[in-house]
Amino acid sequence: MKIHEYQAKEIFRKYNIPTSKEKVAFSLDEVKTIAKELSFPIVVKAQVLVGGRGKAGGVKIAKTPVELESHAKAILGMNIKGLIVKKALLAEGINIEAEYYVGITIDREKQTAVLISSASGGMNIEEVAQKTPEKILSTSISPLLGIKSFQVRNIGYQLFTDTLLVNSFVTITTNLARVFFDLDCSLVEINPLALISVNNEKKLMAVDAKIVFDDNALYQHPNISALRDIESEEPSEVQAKKADLSYVKLDGNVGCVVNGAGLAMATMDLIKRYGGNPANFLDIGGSSSPEKMREAMKIITADKNVKAILVNIFGGITRCDDVAQGLLWAMKEEKIALPIVARLVGTNQDKARSLLENSPIIFAETMSEGVKKVTQALKG
Ligand code: GDP
Ligand code: MN
Repeated sequence: MKIHEYQAKEIFRKYNIPTSKEKVAFSLDEVKTIAKELSFPIVVKAQVLVGGRGKAGGVKIAKTPVELESHAKAILGMNIKGLIVKKALLAEGINIEAEYYVGITIDREKQTAVLISSASGGMNIEEVAQKTPEKILSTSISPLLGIKSFQVRNIGYQLFTDTLLVNSFVTITTNLARVFFDLDCSLVEINPLALISVNNEKKLMAVDAKIVFDDNALYQHPNISALRDIESEEPSEVQAKKADLSYVKLDGNVGCVVNGAGLAMATMDLIKRYGGNPANFLDIGGSSSPEKMREAMKIITADKNVKAILVNIFGGITRCDDVAQGLLWAMKEEKIALPIVARLVGTNQDKARSLLENSPIIFAETMSEGVKKVTQALKG
């Protein structure tokens, strides 16, 4: 589960991680009231559950009340990567001297949490990681011992020369690790961790905040679950969650309906291999009823990028005839005219085949045949 920057910063403040003076606004009127409590310049920041806001124009600095109003008007209601901005964070602008990066996430290969840091933080961190990976420092955190102060201090001295800043980095990073482990996160990130001067004294401050929680541990943290902002999540993913489907929207054009996460991943890989581009990951799960299948087709066809659909089912507990029935219902009710390729093998496959006999669905015997047929269908 993702939360907004303003919510993540509230958690940061509880853990003594310094942030700027700021407040969230839900409307233009609120922007004006909040502005009276802050001093200019004021940074207006779109609150959306997606990265790269700065580059999308979702972070603007206002020097005057007039500028503030026009920035707030532009940002509230803005569309960032398909999500509409409903809230804006107003933060007292600070003079940033340098931007650092610090984050903690899980490294699946090392099977530990890792602390990632860099002296080249800011909006281009992805590019830095790609082009100059040596500028990214990565340190494993022992699952038994937790983060050790010598580790953080060591990194601190690679990033800063001033001992006061090293100390500040150690405190912030240790507190960030407490957030990560206390709240069962899968990612905590400060980018940029800004170097600023206050009364000629250098300090570090979290100018941005990102926290992603592990869904499987949310039941242990009711007050974190309460932070969920369903209205701001990708609508198709919310709909899928309600229908008990695992769905992740991607930006390709081949819709995929598969049972089992492993088969779904393999199907996406194969689509790529044959030159296609998957529009989504979708696992309809084990015992899928025709209703679930219908819901899956609804979600997939709501994505206007989808030009063809591949249904790849290995029937065990899942019955192929249920899937076929759901497909027929969906095609009729949703008036789906897109080419659909189905590979249905396993339990009740013959029943499924006779159900679909007089439909326009293209049958495939094997997975690779199905993928070939769906990529052909794309070409017309
Ligand atoms: P992101 O693009 O979604 O990661 O949004 P950020 O909150 O990281 O803001 C993007 C960039 O805007 C930062 O890297 C900073 O350069 C700049 N920025 C954000 N807040 C401030 C601020 O208070 N003062 C100044 N000078 N720049 C800021
Ligand atoms: Mn950022």
